[in-house]
Amino acid sequence: MGDCVFCKIVEGGIPSEILYSDDRVIAFRDIEPQAPVHFLVVPRRHVESAFHLREGDGELLARMFDAAQKVCAELGVERSGVRILTNVGPDAGQVVMHFHLHVLGGRTMGWPPG
Ligand code: AMP
Ligand code: ZN
Repeated sequence: MGDCVFCKIVEGGIPSEILYSDDRVIAFRDIEPQAPVHFLVVPRRHVESAFHLREGDGELLARMFDAAQKVCAELGVERSGVRILTNVGPDAGQVVMHFHLHVLGGRTMGWPPG
């Protein structure tokens, strides 16, 4: 979709460290990691944010969480635990307007988040 950086990663136009890929979903390392493990899970289809999901996207969401779990197992953080979050809109700091899950792990996480 136009200038969307994550669409470009999906299409292979921008290099990234891909950790998982299937026909609906890809996962790749965040370029500015905020934890020892920090990767993003992204639908191949351009969806602006979690608030732009449609009825019928339930399977897509399940596939995204399944991909997250697979990558966590490969990276050795499935049992130690991770934080999975999605930013929606300006107050949350969403800067890439293509829906994505952040998966953070490899350290303890504070709560509440800053
Ligand atoms: P958000 O603030 O939720 O929109 O998060 C966007 C995330 O995408 C940030 O954590 C960025 O570091 C990350 N990011 C931006 N461009 C890239 C890229 N080319 N490859 C990997 N991660 C990226
Ligand atoms: Zn996009």
